Amino acid sequence: MADVFQIRLEPHGGSFSCAADQTVLDAAIAAGYWLPHSCRAGTCNSCHLTLDAGTVRNAEPAPEGADAVPEGECRTCQAFPLGDLVLHAPTVPQAPGQRVVTAGARVLEVERPSADVAIVRLQVPAASGFRFQAGQYADVLLKDGARRSYSLANVPNEDGLLEWHVRRMDGGRFSPHAYDKLKARDLLRIQGPYGTFVLHDSPAPIVLLASGTGYAPIASLLQTHAEAIAQRGAVLYWGGRQWSDLYAIDSVPAWEARFPGVRLVPVLSEPGADWQGRTGFVHAAVLQDLPDLSGHAVYACGNPLMIDAARAAFTTQGGLPPGHFYCDAFITSKP
Ligand SMILES: Cc1cc2nc3c(=O)[nH]c(=O)nc-3n(C[C@H](O)[C@H](O)[C@H](O)COP(=O)(O)OP(=O)(O)OC[C@H]3O[C@@H](n4cnc5c(N)ncnc54)[C@H](O)[C@@H]3O)c2cc1C
Repeated sequence: MADVFQIRLEPHGGSFSCAADQTVLDAAIAAGYWLPHSCRAGTCNSCHLTLDAGTVRNAEPAPEGADAVPEGECRTCQAFPLGDLVLHAPTVPQAPGQRVVTAGARVLEVERPSADVAIVRLQVPAASGFRFQAGQYADVLLKDGARRSYSLANVPNEDGLLEWHVRRMDGGRFSPHAYDKLKARDLLRIQGPYGTFVLHDSPAPIVLLASGTGYAPIASLLQTHAEAIAQRGAVLYWGGRQWSDLYAIDSVPAWEARFPGVRLVPVLSEPGADWQGRTGFVHAAVLQDLPDLSGHAVYACGNPLMIDAARAAFTTQGGLPPGHFYCDAFITSKP
């Protein structure tokens, strides 16, 4: 039996047990403390916390492309305790009763709205206890133990209904299978929910930023918190190479009619000759329209390069407080 240590969260004051062979993040979530995290693979840096006392062992080998963990910090998704710990955790979202569940999921339907996006609708047994919050994601577990993460695009519900928007990546393990072969009645093994890309209470107007299937969790946030988002005022900048990449838009007016109070700005990086709308990098379009972001909250999701560029530009040129930039980067196992 592995040793078990106590981890205390300051200034929150909560504490939980963590076995020596368990990551700090897994133990925290199991105890109902949803410490900030995103990729859970050691590369997105969302889960770093300051280590006030104690020492940890980091998973080896270090994930490919991971930054070194700065002195005095703990990358909670990769850290195993070597004794009792005290972590400085300024925000500790708690979701009472929410737990990570592993369940069989039956495919109900696969829609293919574009040449490389599959909308996969699934059902887990309601009795499995799988419950999620808007903006979270679930993993599909592959036979050899590998896993892939997909944001949940629908409204949280009691019926076990889940929706993924999967972009097909050539040569990938799961996404080509999802696009080319997955069909109604197929069975998948999934685990979740995970992630902390949820709507945070604030009166600040919102900038939503998506590239490609980064629209998925934003669709869930928009449908689930329609009233609160409309009251704050929001604009969605959705970037793709071509119009067909924005697979959930028939026309801008039709989309805006579905989400009153939210403006939509499509931004294409490789548009056809007939495109009259915005072009270039999606995050650059935000700064052209809103050079002062100091009073905003930004929710960004999709391509990790877009997320990094947006965070850097918004917090430096745009004056956005770093704590008001919320994101989920769709990090792949191989860049
Ligand atoms: C929190 C989170 C949420 C996500 N949500 C979504 C979502 O909602 N929708 C979505 O579409 N994606 C999402 N992703 C990304 C998703 O998890 C997968 O990474 C993505 O679908 C690719 O998986 P795959 O198995 O198809 O490809 P992988 O097998 O992971 O391969 C990825 C790419 O690397 C290349 N590759 C693989 N092995 C090698 C190698 N040895 N050498 C060189 N190249 C190689 C492949 O050709 C492919 O292009 C999310 C990721 C995270 C972390």
